[in-house]
Amino acid sequence: MAIQRTLSIIKPDAVAKNVIGDIIRRFEENGLSVIATRMTHLSAKQAGRFYAVHKERPFYKDLCGFMSSGPILAMTLEGSNAVNLNRQLMGATNPKEAEEGTIRADHANSIDANAVHGSDSEENAGIEISFFFGDLDLNSRL
Ligand code: ADP
Ligand code: MG
Repeated sequence: MAIQRTLSIIKPDAVAKNVIGDIIRRFEENGLSVIATRMTHLSAKQAGRFYAVHKERPFYKDLCGFMSSGPILAMTLEGSNAVNLNRQLMGATNPKEAEEGTIRADHANSIDANAVHGSDSEENAGIEISFFFGDLDLNSRL
C-alpha cells in the first residue's frame, strides 16, 4: 500500500474532553506517524473556508459555528494507506452508526460534535494539509 499523508483534526468537543492523547495513541498504534501539529482556534470565517465544499448544505452554518467554538488540534498523519486508514479509525460521521472501537463511537456525542475530521481523498488531503501547514512544517518520519 502506498505511503500517504492525510489531515486529521481533533475537533473542539474532543479537545474539551481532554482526549487528545487517546486519539493520537490510536493513530500511532495503527502505524500512522504525526509529522506536523498545530493547535489553533479558528474564526467562523476561517472554518467556513476550510469547509467551503459543504457551503450549500443545510448544516454548514452550524458546522462553522461548532468548529470555531473552541481550540482544535490539526495534524498531518503519514503512513501506509493513511487516508483510508484514518477514516476507518474515525468511524462513521454519525456516531450512532460508527463501528464499535472507533474514535467516534468512543468519543463523539452527536453528528455535529463528532470528535474528529479526516480527509476523504488523497487530493483533498493535499488541499487540507496546505490549509494549516507549509512545507517547512511537515517533518517526514520515513
Ligand atoms: P465527515 O466528517 O465524516 O467527512 P462530512 O464531510 O459529510 O463528514 O461532513 C462534515 C462534517 O459536517 C461532519 O463531520 C459533521 O460534523 C457535519 N455534518 C455532516 N452531516 C451532518 C448532518 N446531517 N447534520 C449535522 N452535521 C452534519
Ligand atoms: Mg468530510
